[in-house]
Amino acid sequence: MAIDPEITALTRAIERARRAVVFTGAGISTESGIPDFRSPGGIWTRMAPIDFSDFLASEEARRETWRRRFAMEETFRAAAPNRGHRAVAELVRRGTAAAVITQNIDGLHQGSGVPDEQVIELHGNTTYAHCLDCKARYELHVLRIAFERDGDTPLCDDCGGYVKTATISFGQAMPVEAMRRAETETRAADLFIVAGSSLVVYPAAGFPELAKHNGAKLVIINREPTGLDAIADLVLNRSIGETLGTAVGVD
Ligand code: NAD
Ligand code: ZN
Repeated sequence: MAIDPEITALTRAIERARRAVVFTGAGISTESGIPDFRSPGGIWTRMAPIDFSDFLASEEARRETWRRRFAMEETFRAAAPNRGHRAVAELVRRGTAAAVITQNIDGLHQGSGVPDEQVIELHGNTTYAHCLDCKARYELHVLRIAFERDGDTPLCDDCGGYVKTATISFGQAMPVEAMRRAETETRAADLFIVAGSSLVVYPAAGFPELAKHNGAKLVIINREPTGLDAIADLVLNRSIGETLGTAVGVD
């Protein structure tokens, strides 16, 4: 087989790492059938996101939020981890990667076998819902039955608060504990691998910058150019599953 210098460079960076962090965005899940936001034809070219303040202020915005979420349910439910997720899980299993910091809300890193405590979700999780006030957990299939029966958006049985998917919307405060853990892991990393993020959403995109300024090697795997290519040590404009799968040796 012909030698591929980019894959060789990635393999070597992984072999040299003593404590890597993998940072993922929507691009790692497109090969699982979940569309990203900013690829051509991505979700955003079709609908603007609903701001958290609108969700709080208006029943109509809450109804639209839930309508969109349930419309995506078949896609999320059918999605299984792909080769990229499996390669990341293997890096964690080997102890090469200490943590996975993800902007994704699909739960596919956990689904591929990364232990919960090593997945840091910056934007929460859309596979379940919770009360915004008391954090009581709710399952989507239960909420969906009531929503489709009478069109009312869910309120908490315990405290009457609004129930929303456990995600961080635009305009909503970042999760304090996840941000703290992500910063700690980023500062401790000697290799920081970005996979599938356009690196335009802050504060999440600040982590690769922090890693680089802290002396880590920065690798970016993304089909399109990103906002941080200029400071990266290695940029691979290739598909994630094949690239990481080959470099890590996972099918
Ligand atoms: P983004 O949509 O801004 O960027 C994704 C990037 O991945 C694009 O630059 C695209 O070129 C690249 N890409 C797509 N498929 C790829 C592949 N197979 N191989 C290599 N590169 C690929 O994503 P983002 O930076 O994560 O920001 C979107 C925000 O929306 C996130 O913060 C997240 O919370 C949310 N989101 C999550 C999901 C999910 O959980 N799967 C899906 C859509 C959006
Ligand atoms: Zn409640």
